[in-house]
Amino acid sequence: MNILILGSGGREHTFAYKIAQSPKCKKLYVAPGNAGTSAIAENLQVNPIDFAAVANMALEKDIHMIVVGPEDPLVKGIVDYFKKDERLQDIQIIGPSGRGALLEGSKERAKEFMAMYNIPTAAYESFSFESLQAGKKFLETLQPPYVLKADGLAAGKGVLIIDDLEEAKKELENMLSGKFGAASKKVVIEEFLDGIELSVFVLTDGKNYKILPTAKDYKRIGEGDIGLNTGGMGAVSPVPFADKDFMNKIEERIVKPTVNGLQTEEIDYKGFVFIGLIKVDGEPYVIEYNVRMGDPETEVVLPRIKSDLVDLLEKTWTGELDQIELELDKRAASTIVLVSGGYPESYEKGKIIKGLKEIDSSIVFHAGTMNNEEGDIVTSGGRVIALTSFGKDYKEALKKSYQSAEKLQFDKMYFRKDIGFDLS
Ligand code: ATP
Repeated sequence: MNILILGSGGREHTFAYKIAQSPKCKKLYVAPGNAGTSAIAENLQVNPIDFAAVANMALEKDIHMIVVGPEDPLVKGIVDYFKKDERLQDIQIIGPSGRGALLEGSKERAKEFMAMYNIPTAAYESFSFESLQAGKKFLETLQPPYVLKADGLAAGKGVLIIDDLEEAKKELENMLSGKFGAASKKVVIEEFLDGIELSVFVLTDGKNYKILPTAKDYKRIGEGDIGLNTGGMGAVSPVPFADKDFMNKIEERIVKPTVNGLQTEEIDYKGFVFIGLIKVDGEPYVIEYNVRMGDPETEVVLPRIKSDLVDLLEKTWTGELDQIELELDKRAASTIVLVSGGYPESYEKGKIIKGLKEIDSSIVFHAGTMNNEEGDIVTSGGRVIALTSFGKDYKEALKKSYQSAEKLQFDKMYFRKDIGFDLS
């Protein structure tokens, strides 16, 4: 079949890499893609949130399956758009409907959903500008630090964790007055949970599910997890502390009630659920839902899936995920992300990336890269390359990724050298 992947990051290159391995994939397209995807698929210059353009391209290229990488098109309703149009109804579009995507698109909705199905999460209340005073009073009842979350999508920047009560009140007011635009018209205030985070990925057809490998990512720019938040600087899979007993708790208390909740509410959901979790005193709590895969977690999760990914996605579409075995690679995988100097603040683009061909013990996933007119591969974003390696454990895998990083160069290249620092 002909398959189209929407997106342009390391996540989408990893999807392309896995999907290209499937004998079921005849022709692969990525829109808009990057230099890495152009080597294994055809890049199409289409913006994933321009649904009409995506639809026209899908018809023109006789696409049978679409994998939606980022959250934006999902939250904006791309799945519903395809379902509504007779010409597009048979295209297997992997991702939740707009109602399903609200689990990521609205933190208030996610918290209400968790409360409804008794899914463990931090205690919370939600406020609007009209209830600002009540919000301030609620803050007074909590212990610091205070967690303030913009209800809507804010490009990973909408969560503030503040130590001082007065500052938290001020920020609440700022947020409700439009600090994050429409995204912070409502603010969720929640109890701070102190523990260690991990991510669990679930593929569901809305009724059946498969739990994919766990992963842990490293979001801050600085070593020791300090400094500004980024899209992610590295990841490992599996997560060493997610043992059988802990995974059982996650499945029983979180995964099953989540899928049951979707079913109860008759939400059309054929896609990935990315559950951000925190382990507190041995117990799992949900921090957030995302309705797509994570980046760079995808770069360590998908390579560990041995089953044919297209098969898994097809069964997701037909509602037959119970009829397929999920086969995993027992080895661990780690990835490190090479970024442009200055990221996540301002940085320069167009730097020639050297040494790509010399890497032989890691998989090179491209993120912000493009081919320039001279035929060089150059940087075109903050996160540039993810280097994924396998090993008997995450440390052995990481060692290979770091060795590979030494072979690569571009002006002002930066990467964290302490991925996995909190795991041993
Ligand atoms: P992202 O897009 O970066 O995944 P987000 O903006 O959707 O994040 P959350 O994942 O809800 O927001 O929160 C961001 C980070 O803030 C979490 O990864 C976690 O480190 C921290 N955090 C959120 N909620 C809590 C909480 N209740 N207690 C402690 N830390 C929290």
